[in-house]
Amino acid sequence: MAANEKEVLVKADRVKVYFNGRSRRDGKVKAVDDVSFEIMKGETFGVVGESGCGKSTLGRTLVRLQKPTDGQIYLNGTDISQLKGEPLKQMRKDVQIIFQDPSACLNPRRTIRQILMEPFKIHGLTGKIDAEKRILELLQLVGLDEYHLSRYPHELSGGQKQRIGIARALALEPKLIICDEAVSALDVSVQAQVLNLLQELKEKLGLTYFFISHNLNVVYQVSDRVGVMYLGRMVEIASYDQLYEKRYHPYTEALLSAIPQIDQEVQSKRIHLEGEVPSPSNPPSGCHFHTRCQKACDRCKKETPQLREVDPGHFVACHLYE
Ligand code: ADP
Repeated sequence: MAANEKEVLVKADRVKVYFNGRSRRDGKVKAVDDVSFEIMKGETFGVVGESGCGKSTLGRTLVRLQKPTDGQIYLNGTDISQLKGEPLKQMRKDVQIIFQDPSACLNPRRTIRQILMEPFKIHGLTGKIDAEKRILELLQLVGLDEYHLSRYPHELSGGQKQRIGIARALALEPKLIICDEAVSALDVSVQAQVLNLLQELKEKLGLTYFFISHNLNVVYQVSDRVGVMYLGRMVEIASYDQLYEKRYHPYTEALLSAIPQIDQEVQSKRIHLEGEVPSPSNPPSGCHFHTRCQKACDRCKKETPQLREVDPGHFVACHLYE
């Protein structure tokens, strides 16, 4: 895939993540199925797709909480897909993840000071740097005060807890942050504050985000480029502006027609997808979307469409555009 003039931070090359099914008769669950894409330095790469399409699994694989079954992931040119031991630990300094539920991620028996000290302890940095000073800087970065350090997570609001989650993710100065439904559990007004904070931090610290959300509106608001996933595969990748202008894949068209902010005209033509998402342990042949696609033809049942560049930087996997 050709990159634009920006530098590539992450390159995922034919990544597959398969899980064992619940019983022997079930096939493998193809959570991520032959996915290739690039994330440019300094951008927010958003991922959309219905629940179960593999967004979180892909995010967890980029941070190597999950090992890919096949394929390569390059971070700054280094293949991280098979790292173990010390090199894996070192790599994890560069890629951090922020989860949906801050309450579940913060140890309730630890104070905020202890929680923020953890990354420095894990990496043996407490004697080498002034961790106490760094913790204060982190708190300031996420808009909290010194007095929060002696508090326990249950003494903070949902938004404040997520700010601590963000501060912890920033502790080791990562290059890439995976935001996995990072604002989904928050009230709408708090969501906006945390999204603004993420945006400010991105600019201030030169961060790169891989932004996963089931909320299309949110992904669309924050992303420079968007990847659309369907049943383990990436079906369209384009910049925000390109998708605003033109959505090629029938799935993207249907998915984004549900966002009123994009286009009033499109809204009046909202496309309702018929049927359920098929099971990733027994996906349809050819194009996985053909069973729900109004434009499917015979070829779609037999042949898997490859992701192709249809406009500069705009990729789509659909036989309609070959
Ligand atoms: P999304 O984030 O888009 O909702 P996920 O990545 O969570 O999707 O899940 C993709 C598919 O992989 C789902 O069918 C899910 O049930 C399955 N899956 C995810 N993690 C596991 C696991 N550890 N073991 C078995 N199946 C899994």
